[in-house]
Amino acid sequence: MPLLSLTLTTINLQYKAAPVPFPTISSKPTTCQSLSSKPRLRKLFKTTSSFRFSKTQGLSASLLANSASGFHRFKEMVMVFDSYIVGTFLVSLLGFVFLFILRHNNNSRKKKIEKGSRDFKIQTDAVSGTEIGECLPENGSGTDVIIVGAGVAGAALAYTLGKDGRRVHVIERDLTEPDRIVGELLQPGGYLKLVELGLEDCVEEIDAQRVLGYALFKDERNTKLSYPLEKFHADVAGRSFHNGRFIQRMREKASTLPNVRLEQGTVTSLLEENGTIRGVQYKTKDGQELGAYAPLTIVCDGCFSNLRRSLCNPKVVDVPSCFVGLVLENCELPFSNHGHVILGDPSPILFYPISSTEVRCLVDVPGQKVPSIANGEMANYLKTMVAPQVPPELRDAFIAAVNKGNIRTMPNRSMPADPHPTPGALLMGDAFNMRHPLTGGGMTVALSDIVVLRDLLRPLHDLHDAACLTKYLESFYTLRKDEIS
Ligand SMILES: Cc1cc2nc3c(=O)[nH]c(=O)nc-3n(C[C@H](O)[C@H](O)[C@H](O)COP(=O)(O)OP(=O)(O)OC[C@H]3O[C@@H](n4cnc5c(N)ncnc54)[C@H](O)[C@@H]3O)c2cc1C
Repeated sequence: MPLLSLTLTTINLQYKAAPVPFPTISSKPTTCQSLSSKPRLRKLFKTTSSFRFSKTQGLSASLLANSASGFHRFKEMVMVFDSYIVGTFLVSLLGFVFLFILRHNNNSRKKKIEKGSRDFKIQTDAVSGTEIGECLPENGSGTDVIIVGAGVAGAALAYTLGKDGRRVHVIERDLTEPDRIVGELLQPGGYLKLVELGLEDCVEEIDAQRVLGYALFKDERNTKLSYPLEKFHADVAGRSFHNGRFIQRMREKASTLPNVRLEQGTVTSLLEENGTIRGVQYKTKDGQELGAYAPLTIVCDGCFSNLRRSLCNPKVVDVPSCFVGLVLENCELPFSNHGHVILGDPSPILFYPISSTEVRCLVDVPGQKVPSIANGEMANYLKTMVAPQVPPELRDAFIAAVNKGNIRTMPNRSMPADPHPTPGALLMGDAFNMRHPLTGGGMTVALSDIVVLRDLLRPLHDLHDAACLTKYLESFYTLRKDEIS
């Protein structure tokens, strides 16, 4: 039963509760201070591997710090003229005016941020980049990390790095709520990662359903397999939901951080200089071509990634089959709060709840071509080949969904991680690696990678130290293997 073992492998691997052994970060000698402080990192990794509900980190106060240090310098200047009473008076007055202006600017910036987060759903046209061809500000774009794509990986990463005080610029092609048939069942291991990232509330208020295990069906027989959750907090379970609602919750949460900026735009290329990625070129919503610059660019542009080419060794993406998706309404699953796997002919059929009233059905169709939806071949295939294998409790709702006609398809892709370490850039999420969606593991792997990267980068306060950053990025690929494999 390869499907079953595949599924359980994914589940079990995410459950490793034992402390993760500290891996060697880099075999090369490094002068980088933080990298050599192994005990500190070791401590980090131990805490990461345990289950925590703690919320950490305040936000960057760099703006305030800069303002404060400017003010102190200003005050020192005033001291020089201390003997001149009139001068002192005038400068004090100026200082007061200066402080007033600073406070006013800070307040109006704060108001803009608050307004921005309230208006999140329509904040899609902010222009902030540099005209292509203009000079780069030396180390000073004001951005630490550019994230390409705000799907599951990009949105979670933006919040995570923003919470750690990084100035993050996210460029997402479409900030409206996605409507897709992917990423709808988060395994319990993925939920644990959400908790570690402080994002567990993103599965609240979206009518997400708890998933406690799988039910397997084969030739009139069935059995139920529960996740081994006994040792965990009662809240820990899988969650299934509308993918778009989940992503939108994470985007909203990221955009509440003042140092995270979400912008709608399509990244067209990575900007490279002497082998180092310096940023991206992108097209804004209104068609302007701009450049954005940062010491680190993280590419999370999903399974159809156009940007991964230069960051990983060219691999043929395997497409063994396609999923055909339907939504069933007004029906009860035979085993509530369970994913249902029909070990059918010629391949599996899945059912799981995506809200309190809807059940997702995914039919695996082998090969890269599916019957045509337009000419009715697909409806015919589903009714004659698939429907007879659907459990009787779901059959009417299945036929009704086929007749309703909202049939969607998606290729099932798999691609091993084979990165080409590149200074200034990193791949994450489906852009980096993919596994067959039957494993339901894609989101869990992405979230797990984010935890690894967050902990790795924490001691590195200044991402502009290019040599040091490169060493950290190289070790990411080693560290993640222990978590994922
Ligand atoms: C049919 C199917 C079912 C699946 N079911 C599950 C499941 O149940 N559980 C599970 O864990 N995983 C599942 N997966 C896998 C899961 O969907 C992915 O692993 C997950 O969505 C990866 O997240 P991501 O952020 O890398 O990509 P995405 O979530 O696809 O996000 C990519 C983002 O990048 C944006 N983007 C793309 N190009 C650009 C550009 N040039 N410029 C700016 N933005 C850009 C896109 O608009 C999008 O928002 C499934 C996959 C498939 C195909």
